[in-house]
Amino acid sequence: MKSLRKELWFEVPTRRAFVNITPQVEKALQESGIKEGLCLVNAMHITASVYINDDEQGLLADYEDWLEGLAPHEPISRYRHNQTGEDNGDAHLKRQVMGREVVVAITEGRLDFGPWEQIFYGEFDGRRRKRVLVKIIGE
Ligand code: ZN
Repeated sequence: MKSLRKELWFEVPTRRAFVNITPQVEKALQESGIKEGLCLVNAMHITASVYINDDEQGLLADYEDWLEGLAPHEPISRYRHNQTGEDNGDAHLKRQVMGREVVVAITEGRLDFGPWEQIFYGEFDGRRRKRVLVKIIGE
């Protein structure tokens, strides 16, 4: 069995953003040389997500509005977590809703997606360097 471990680094200039990371994951798959297997992609931070959905601007704006409705960033005082002196209580909750990781099947050397599926990095507390782990196993 072959395997590849790779870290993707991001520094989003805004507090929140959605980044399509499918090209970086496909590049890692090419590097691995694996034709049949599984690809795990996970956020390594508890205020960021990795998820799969459509790359469509309206949808990304809808996520932003929906998540702000569920867990508004302000007032910061609404979150007990922020009594520690942090201001990212909302980002922990947003990450929980959007998820930590995805697993994609690898078939004939390609990510075996359904229609319109793309892999996204969801940032909820940006403006600092953060990592995504890609682990690919197979043969
Ligand atoms: Zn925190």
